[in-house]
Amino acid sequence: MNYREIPAIFLADAPGLDFLNSVATPVDEPIDWIADGEGLLSWLEQAEFVPADVIRRIRGEATPAELDEVAAKARDLREWFRTFVYKRKGRPLSAKDLRDLEPLNRVLERDEQHGEIVIDDAHSATGFAFHMRRRWPAAESLLMPIVEALARVVCDEDFTQVKACEGPACTLLFADHTRGHARRWCSMAICGNRAKVAAHRKRRKEESAG
Ligand SMILES: [Zn+2]
Repeated sequence: MNYREIPAIFLADAPGLDFLNSVATPVDEPIDWIADGEGLLSWLEQAEFVPADVIRRIRGEATPAELDEVAAKARDLREWFRTFVYKRKGRPLSAKDLRDLEPLNRVLERDEQHGEIVIDDAHSATGFAFHMRRRWPAAESLLMPIVEALARVVCDEDFTQVKACEGPACTLLFADHTRGHARRWCSMAICGNRAKVAAHRKRRKEESAG
């Protein structure tokens, strides 16, 4: 199915896990929202990872082949990080996991950011705030907000509560930030209801059999 027909899925409660969910099977067929360069641009814009004016500029400057190549790198990172998360979800990370994060640190090294003083009356008592601003020198810099989001999953999320949806055919991951840590589904709308209907049907069948 074509990714252009369906909006991307954002329900992980952690942007880096939303990135892993950029390939999913919301109905019957798998959809990869970053299957090519244009898909990557669209996903990054929907995720608010990259400002719209930067998307426009890079779309104008880079060739479709260049953008496809960046999308391929993004997919490689995605599947590499998925393996990392699958191996460790459900337990806290430890210092020895850092060794396996080396590929992420190598991409992060190439990031170009600088600090900037901005006006912020809403959140800052002084009225000023220190913001990091990213330079976007080339199409490849589109990977930077992605690797930042993945690094934040490692640094900010309790892996004990990183979960895979219990839907039998579902591949979606999320961070369970609910108070009782009882979240089981990517969403009630997608898998929760499906499970409720299946359980109801099973009960009915057992009742009529007994
Ligand atoms: Zn699900």
